[in-house]
Amino acid sequence: MKKNVIVKSIIILASICILIFLIWIYLFPNRSNKSNENIDKLISVNKLNTKTLIVSLGYDVVMAIETQKGIAVIDAGISNSLTAKYRKIIEREFKRHDFAYLINTHSHWDHTGGNQVFADAVIIAHENCVTEMSEYWKDKNKIKLNLQKIVNDYENKLKSFDPEWQDSLEIEKQIIRYQSAYNDLMTNRLVTFPTITFKDTMNLFMSDLSFHMIYFGRAHSGSDILIYVPELELLMTGDLFSEGGRAAFDVLEKKDIKQWMTAKKWIEKRKDNIETVVNGHGSILGKNDLAAFVKYINEMGTESKRVSSTGNVKM
Ligand SMILES: [Zn+2]
Repeated sequence: MKKNVIVKSIIILASICILIFLIWIYLFPNRSNKSNENIDKLISVNKLNTKTLIVSLGYDVVMAIETQKGIAVIDAGISNSLTAKYRKIIEREFKRHDFAYLINTHSHWDHTGGNQVFADAVIIAHENCVTEMSEYWKDKNKIKLNLQKIVNDYENKLKSFDPEWQDSLEIEKQIIRYQSAYNDLMTNRLVTFPTITFKDTMNLFMSDLSFHMIYFGRAHSGSDILIYVPELELLMTGDLFSEGGRAAFDVLEKKDIKQWMTAKKWIEKRKDNIETVVNGHGSILGKNDLAAFVKYINEMGTESKRVSSTGNVKM
């Protein structure tokens, strides 16, 4: 009888231990043992030209452009912790730390998550960026769960890859990226909103360089903008498209055709003076990719005209 009680107690104790272990795994799924030093080694610095740096860790990207009136940064990455590292690299490369502007290409958290790191600069974005960011950050618990799931999924994926493969390294980078965002949330991250917003267009003149921005219309998000630096013949397009002009539009059902056409004309007017196109995840694109994207917008416009003229047929 006494023996039975002891066995039962051991079983109950073991079950409690397993339960605690499972809860621990669930709450802290990210056991990435990447040290700070190892993370530093995975960060790439690409000098696009004498004034432009692309600092990245996989898909996490921050661009910095040096001007006579201070440094302008395009997008702020997914987390404060990684972006703080990028900032140090930019300061070291440019040998200065006067950050004048941060421009968010759109509201998505993987472009605005590190805004806090550049809170000493003026932060510029489209006016919808503020609304979209407020909406997104409303439910932090949901974001936490989402991040946990993403990290777990990547960790499971990693198990089936050979650690020597390049793909495996890319997955590691994704884990670090989302893990950093998760850690930020666990330490009460500060959400930092843009300080200056615009509706249609905005131009910034910084002595030797200028930044010309236009709202694209609802497409990939509700706040996508294009940023053009004529002196560098450089266009930055956020997440609007990737190689081959492949559009990444999330809100097709709410096509903002009129605004798209305005943006298309804006691009066409400048196209002979655009040599390099960089998207929001660091892909360096060219004239052909831009031309393919413009063609896609044109087709959308034509299709929309056809749909609306069919809709107006009187019966
Ligand atoms: Zn995006």
